[in-house]
Amino acid sequence: MYNGHWVVDGHADILYRMEGEGLGFYDPDSKLQQSYLHMAASGIDVQVFVTFVEPSLSPSEQLYKVLASLDRFYREVEKPGAVVPVFSVSDLKAVLQSGHRGAILSLEGADAFAGRIEVLHTLFRLGVRLIGLTWNGANSVADGVGEARGAGLTHFGREVVLTMRTLGMVVDVSHLAERGVWDVLEIYGGPVVASHSNAAAVHAHRRNLSDDQIRGIAATGGLVGATFVPSFVGDRAVLTSEDLLRHIDHLLTIAGPDGVALGSDFDGIDTTLTDLRNGSDYPQLLEKLERRYGSDVLAKMAGGNWLRVFSQILPEQ
Ligand SMILES: [Zn+2]
Repeated sequence: MYNGHWVVDGHADILYRMEGEGLGFYDPDSKLQQSYLHMAASGIDVQVFVTFVEPSLSPSEQLYKVLASLDRFYREVEKPGAVVPVFSVSDLKAVLQSGHRGAILSLEGADAFAGRIEVLHTLFRLGVRLIGLTWNGANSVADGVGEARGAGLTHFGREVVLTMRTLGMVVDVSHLAERGVWDVLEIYGGPVVASHSNAAAVHAHRRNLSDDQIRGIAATGGLVGATFVPSFVGDRAVLTSEDLLRHIDHLLTIAGPDGVALGSDFDGIDTTLTDLRNGSDYPQLLEKLERRYGSDVLAKMAGGNWLRVFSQILPEQ
């Protein structure tokens, strides 16, 4: 918690970096940007743990990597009294009451599905509760922002999105090509998130969202997670949280206070904003947000909006 407000970080690649560099989540000297110590020091109540895998791998190799990532979470991160996975609304309530860290498992890019809906059902049973449909390339579900074709959801992609709604999984449109975003907004029938994207009107970057997209996401009751990725924040070599605040100002103007949240992308970035180097810098950002927008808006942005979306979408039990 920060000043009595829940804190949720909607996107971090902790598991990917643990694998790639052999880093320990609980290691007191861990080089992770979002290690357990950083998370505890900054009062993060719920963290989204992403399973990102190299897009250059074949779908079956990606599936093995996703399974390895989930296994790593359960063997090296989940720990009673420290980090507890959240599968349902009742888990969410219990973890918030306990004061421990809650973990939402997420997939960044559904390449591993390869057109097979049983992969989605199985990942749900393994605990995945949030899925970014694509990374930057195309897969059997949809095109990412880096695919020149820019197509929307495939027939299979529609089945995936509708099944996610039925199962109780959050759809993440960050990385998705614009047509796919509109398709999701039209058919999902619930709050949609962009877990880690900024405003294209502030900094034109393919990973940032147009005002129309931001408005569309907010209209579903969803949210945009403002992200700390320097290249999405601006062009200059040195960028700070002040530059990020320009995006948040804009997101608030377009989406309103119920539609803006945070998704750091820690451990998915090589360079950082100079004053947001790792999770332990989170409170300084929250302090700035509170001073700039007041306590009620901070409460929503720091965690309230993510918690509302999880409560609306996840299964009850
Ligand atoms: Zn990403």
